[in-house]
Amino acid sequence: MEKKTFATLSQLQEITKTYPTPFHLYDERGIRENARRLKEAFAWNPGFREYFAVKATPNPFILKILQEYGCGTDCSSLTELLMSDACGFSGHDIMFSSNDTPPEEFRMAADLGAIINLDDITHIRCLEETIGYIPETICCRYNPGGLFQISNDIMDNPGDAKYGMTTEQLFDAFRILKEKGAKRFGIHAFLASNTVTNEYYPMLAKVLFDVAVQLKEETGADIRFINLSGGIGIPYRPDQEPNDIRVIGEGVRKVYEEVLVPAGMGDVALYTELGRFMLAPYGCLVTRAIHEKHTHKEYIGVDACAVNLMRPAMYGAYHHITVMGKENLPCDHKYDVVGSLCENNDKFAIDRMLPEIQTGDLLVIHDTGAHGFAMGYNYNGKLKSAELLLKEDGSVEMIRRAETPKDYFATFDFCDIMKKYL
Ligand SMILES: *Cc1c(COP(=O)(O)O)cnc(C)c1O
Repeated sequence: MEKKTFATLSQLQEITKTYPTPFHLYDERGIRENARRLKEAFAWNPGFREYFAVKATPNPFILKILQEYGCGTDCSSLTELLMSDACGFSGHDIMFSSNDTPPEEFRMAADLGAIINLDDITHIRCLEETIGYIPETICCRYNPGGLFQISNDIMDNPGDAKYGMTTEQLFDAFRILKEKGAKRFGIHAFLASNTVTNEYYPMLAKVLFDVAVQLKEETGADIRFINLSGGIGIPYRPDQEPNDIRVIGEGVRKVYEEVLVPAGMGDVALYTELGRFMLAPYGCLVTRAIHEKHTHKEYIGVDACAVNLMRPAMYGAYHHITVMGKENLPCDHKYDVVGSLCENNDKFAIDRMLPEIQTGDLLVIHDTGAHGFAMGYNYNGKLKSAELLLKEDGSVEMIRRAETPKDYFATFDFCDIMKKYL
């Protein structure tokens, strides 16, 4: 499928008069329409709720939009909990799905009344010692091990992942938690990431629903919710077929009716913790070509770099690039599109066929709305960009300002050496 930008060249030219490149731009309309589609796809399950994975796009303006669609937040750190609290999420609006959890973060999650999702059986004791009790509502993260696959197509390798409890530990954990006073239980698993198939959630649901039935039978636990977590992917490449959330919702419903309903568990709520699916396609990184270099290869240097978007450098991830205003020209030039870090993996694209690029051209790097800005860092003293929201009425709102050198030096504010720049 052809990948289209959600903003036009003239819109971007207008925006760059006020906000210099690079910046991340988000599409409010796209975010809203998608959130509505997800809600409709699972409307058959009365308790359904999406807990947006804050780590994907930790921005209060984005969280406030999702809140309008009934979303809660999924947090895995102290600052994500604090941001959720500041945005007005409280109690069971918050899911705390953390691993290798610093005990004081359990304390903060408990203080906010969040649902705590235990990553390991040893965390029962850690939680109890930290907060002094076991909450009445508690969730455990499951990792069945092995490979997660559809016939011969391996989706991911849970056996190699650090998350979750084994089957045996899960059953023991439920028994122990019940003895310690837990009354309402949830189960969670995240077994494959960025799945571009409508099969993932239904298959994961089968694994979780089967184990939920057994857990109920063997431990007598009152299972109130099953958390399918994240993992629904998006088509980063133009040749990929996008997921159809309605088909996914119906697929899960079928398994629900086959497994849970006959076991007398037809009142179990389903939760999701999607990040990428909620935001990735509705954000892009807008950058400008500032140099062309002809050496052993053809390079286009842009004013963004891996600190603005780490996925290509970190996992060789593909992000589609549109050269604005040249959408209809032939892609007859082979370029490496690079940033300015002193790291040779700072390349947004390698050997990418694109139209001929001139210095000054605006480039849109697609699908950066999740795990984009969020993974930013400050290597080479690079500063993080602004985040802008393209509103439904076509206006633009700054939802995070760009960092300044002062921000970068702020952690030296206790001494005089950097005073000149503070
Ligand atoms: C990262 C993460 C998610 C979101 O994953 P996506 O791939 O963005 O959907 C959800 N839950 C947990 C526990 C995570 O770590």
